[in-house]
Amino acid sequence: MRYRSTRGDARPRNFSDILLAGLAEDGGLYMPETWPRFSPDEWRAMRTLSYPELAARVIAPFAEGAIDIETLTTLCRKAYADFDHPAVAPLVEVEDGLFALELFHGPTLAFKDMAMQLLGHLFEHVLTQRGERVTIVGATSGDTGSAAIEAFRGSEHLSVAILHPKGRTSDVQRRQMTTVTESNILNIAIDGTFDDCQDMVKAMFADDAFRNEVHLSAVNSINWARIAAQIPYYVRAALMFGAPDRPVSFAVPTGNFGNVLAAWAASQMGLPVRRLCIGSNRNDILTRFLASNDMSVRVVEPSLSPSMDIQVSSNFERLLFELLDRDSEACADVMTAFRKTGRMDVPHRAWQRAGEMFSGLTLNDEETSAEMRYLYAQGRYLADPHTAIGIAAGRRGKEPGVPMIVAATAHPAKFPDAVVAATGIHPPLPPRLADLFERSERFETLPNDIARIEAAVRAHRLHGHNR
Ligand SMILES: *Cc1c(COP(=O)(O)O)cnc(C)c1O
Repeated sequence: MRYRSTRGDARPRNFSDILLAGLAEDGGLYMPETWPRFSPDEWRAMRTLSYPELAARVIAPFAEGAIDIETLTTLCRKAYADFDHPAVAPLVEVEDGLFALELFHGPTLAFKDMAMQLLGHLFEHVLTQRGERVTIVGATSGDTGSAAIEAFRGSEHLSVAILHPKGRTSDVQRRQMTTVTESNILNIAIDGTFDDCQDMVKAMFADDAFRNEVHLSAVNSINWARIAAQIPYYVRAALMFGAPDRPVSFAVPTGNFGNVLAAWAASQMGLPVRRLCIGSNRNDILTRFLASNDMSVRVVEPSLSPSMDIQVSSNFERLLFELLDRDSEACADVMTAFRKTGRMDVPHRAWQRAGEMFSGLTLNDEETSAEMRYLYAQGRYLADPHTAIGIAAGRRGKEPGVPMIVAATAHPAKFPDAVVAATGIHPPLPPRLADLFERSERFETLPNDIARIEAAVRAHRLHGHNR
């Protein structure tokens, strides 16, 4: 399988290349040159596979020519061995015909583990093969950073530097990052906002000399391998409800558009998907787009569901590319103008096509709390704020006879304050994290200054952490 950029760069690259590169050099996102498709019989044959076997089968066509299916199966077995549930991603009936697909049984209690745990093993495999060593830098508002740190801790092939905005993540989120003691992990608390952190990461990538010196790599949600690793759980859930002989719908609480894009990718691969329902908080750029073709950036407002406090959904560019019939020139034009004006000019026909598959629902904080309270009162289902928004979107989009499967993206214990406020229930942390608040923390605090941050990343790469 070859990959090309949504903005035109068509130099041939394989799965391992784009795994390490993340973003394309022309600023675009990598897409597979064609969509692999499975026949109905091939789908049916997957019904009896274990989760790691199924994951390897679904990802294999994307890795073709770079990593064979036997190797992939081994890597998937390792990646999902450390999940707290034997099904890896269990399905729970929340109400009639509506099911939560629980993606939070991994080590950091959010769905990011589903892809990131596998990425850890994929990086290890490719870097060992190539004899290379890279530096991964990333900005996080909470969940991505902890998932990356957990996936890459202890590796000899890479050092990891994660920037978080000081004082702006939840205590659980911060401690999941800062209590990891392996010497290849560096936590930097920035005096600033999440956007400042993200700007610092972009500045490091734009600094060619620095990028080459430390072999910079990224595992943010635009990395195609992460999208690929998120497709299998949609496949598995649909197969459980009778696919390919019966369609299903999915609802996904959405921020950067990565998770729901994976569900859409499954439909491109031949899985019968009826509808994709997007849930948003007050940062509702995507739902405004779907309702009225208004994709205009507003100020990011903090909400009860911080992992969706986003105004620019990076992965949307991949859907746009498809809606424009893979015209990379048109895609580049739309994206360049969007960057300049803060308003995306999506052609009317492309917008209509998006509406044939996608719908959106926005919940503000009061509505999110009310939904959490309702779910607990009705069926004793304890949902975190992100999941609650997804469930509300799923209920809205549900059709008779079509199972509605909602991506449950975080464990309620990851957002205890919101859960207690809504339901009165204090969700306990799972045993593996029960002593999280007794562990000691380690991080550097740095000003919002690119020279200081680059110096810290460079020193860490050379010497690891001296305690
Ligand atoms: C990252 C995240 C989301 C948003 O997922 P995207 O792929 O960015 O759309 C939703 N819920 C939780 C808990 C998350 O961590």
